[in-house]
Amino acid sequence: MGTVVEASSKEASGSSLSQKKPKVVFVLGGPGSGKGTQCANIVEHFGYTHLSAGDLLRAEIKSGSENGTMIQNMIKEGKIVPSEVTIKLLEKAILENENDKFLIDGFPRNEENRAAFESVFGDLQTGITPEFVLYFDCPQEEMEKRLLSRNQGREDDNIDTIRKRFKVFLESSLPVIEYYNSKEKVRKIDAAKPVEEVFKTVKALFTPVVDKAAA
Ligand code: UDP
Ligand code: MG
Repeated sequence: MGTVVEASSKEASGSSLSQKKPKVVFVLGGPGSGKGTQCANIVEHFGYTHLSAGDLLRAEIKSGSENGTMIQNMIKEGKIVPSEVTIKLLEKAILENENDKFLIDGFPRNEENRAAFESVFGDLQTGITPEFVLYFDCPQEEMEKRLLSRNQGREDDNIDTIRKRFKVFLESSLPVIEYYNSKEKVRKIDAAKPVEEVFKTVKALFTPVVDKAAA
């Protein structure tokens, strides 16, 4: 598996990914914390392109790709798909899009994801690094309520898979958020509030960044 990431990294360093140097914000938080909803608001107000790793994986299943069945089984179990699969999809989506600012939603989800991202995109010192990490902090009961009532027809929005996703979030994803926190990259948001209130906080975080970029 490591070799695939390495190969991809070599391609990237000599290709348009390093030339493009996109601006990236990671959007993290538990399942049902409101990442997708708030990303749609950010796109509308700040002109980012929203890349949901979960949506890219679901599109890959629908496209009938050779990895489709493996991805589908992992999502059903709430497990994290091998990094090289997700990284390839993200890399492709970034290169295919003319925009140079991206919200990467729901990724990196574990240390392996983070290391793979760094091996392809560069690390915090040298590469394409997140401007910051938006972390939607939300109590589990609230997330569970939202997931069970959202009716998006997702195979993983059932109580059994939801519990597994919470466990994976606590065990694998929170350490990634803690890593970025130790690098002072995390902007933590109280995501239990109504959508409009959460967006007020989000907006305040993006405004100075946009101003700086425009200056
Ligand atoms: N997933 C993954 N790697 C990623 C993003 C998602 O393996 O980088 C899988 C994982 O099984 C996860 C599922 O896709 O439980 C749904 O992810 P999504 O981000 O869409 O769910 P959300 O957290 O937004 O409810
Ligand atoms: Mg989502």
